[in-house]
Amino acid sequence: MLSSRMEKLHPYVPGEQPRDREYIKLNANENPYPPCDAAVKAALDWAKSSPQSLALYPDPDSLSLRKKIAAMLNSTGGVLSRALISEGKISPCECDDFGFEITPEMIYAGNGSDEVLSFLFYAFFDSNEKLISPEFSYSFYPVYCGFHSIQMEKIPLLQNWEIDIDEMISRAKKFHAPTILANPNAPTSLCLSRAQVRRMLEECPSDRAFVVDEAYVDFGGESCLPLLRDFENLIIVRTFSKSLCAAGMRLGYLAANPKMVNAVLTVKNSVNHFPLDSFAQIFGSAVCENVPYYIECAKKIVASREDFSDFLRERGFFVLPSSTNFLFAKKDGRSGRAMYAALKKEGILVRRFDTAGIEEFLRITVGTKEQMAVLKRAFEKLEF
Ligand SMILES: *Cc1c(COP(=O)(O)O)cnc(C)c1O
Repeated sequence: MLSSRMEKLHPYVPGEQPRDREYIKLNANENPYPPCDAAVKAALDWAKSSPQSLALYPDPDSLSLRKKIAAMLNSTGGVLSRALISEGKISPCECDDFGFEITPEMIYAGNGSDEVLSFLFYAFFDSNEKLISPEFSYSFYPVYCGFHSIQMEKIPLLQNWEIDIDEMISRAKKFHAPTILANPNAPTSLCLSRAQVRRMLEECPSDRAFVVDEAYVDFGGESCLPLLRDFENLIIVRTFSKSLCAAGMRLGYLAANPKMVNAVLTVKNSVNHFPLDSFAQIFGSAVCENVPYYIECAKKIVASREDFSDFLRERGFFVLPSSTNFLFAKKDGRSGRAMYAALKKEGILVRRFDTAGIEEFLRITVGTKEQMAVLKRAFEKLEF
């Protein structure tokens, strides 16, 4: 009864979403803050004032949302935690300035970046061919490789958990293969500099797609958006789920050369013509128009992250320097599994992995100041 393709599926296992009791949820890298009131109000007002609009199909290509996303990127420089606000006016930090305009034609918007990724896998990576990716990275990449029959070539990380740029380049050249990486990377939380990614783009095949997943870049990494001017094969994937407090709304996008965007639109129109509902499009546009709120949230999370990472180091933990909204940490002589279980009993959920090599690590999402205070007390009580 099942198709032979089914055998190749190894579905993603997401962070737990338990409903049995109220946990402090620090296990799925969600934002601890709600979206801004103005975005919720814009979507609700729209539905209430013109309910007939809900009877009609949405804009299949989400054009006004794409305009707002482009405007948000141009005004902030694409890294919220570094964007500047002065007298209500937003500007990019000097180091993030693109020096050119991102246009709506360079944006594709989809139903969460997971869907955007699935469509771009179809558009740019061939079945039965290799795809270069770091060994430890977003665990959805191997899932999509299985789904689309792509052979993932996993490049081990260096001893210090950084991505092995030279080996990634040399394998991409050897197999004339496309590349995907998350920057900052998950679950390591480390980020490559833009100059390092530029070197990879200069040396990897220029006629194969090179995908940089920037799900976490708003928390302090270096965005590769400025490289779009120089590299037609570069695709940058981003999401509303982490820094834009909207994981439940399922909004994601990519930024790339318009030719690449058109290829993804073709895939979309061959699978699901209307991936984004009208409500999500209106909501997402209002999020982009209220970016100062999200800049504040990102700055608060960065401050809590630095504070909690100091706390962990003082207690003898090994903590990788994070450019994200989570910390990846372990302690000698402590089992990751046991720490995870003890924290769960205390009503706090963190994430850990059974994957060989990273079993002893905890991946802790940075919550509100109050949540992190509860977490600190739990570490003290449990004597971690
Ligand atoms: C969370 C995450 C995503 C998925 O985001 P959605 O937009 O919620 O689908 C993609 N890539 C990475 C690296 C992530 O951590």
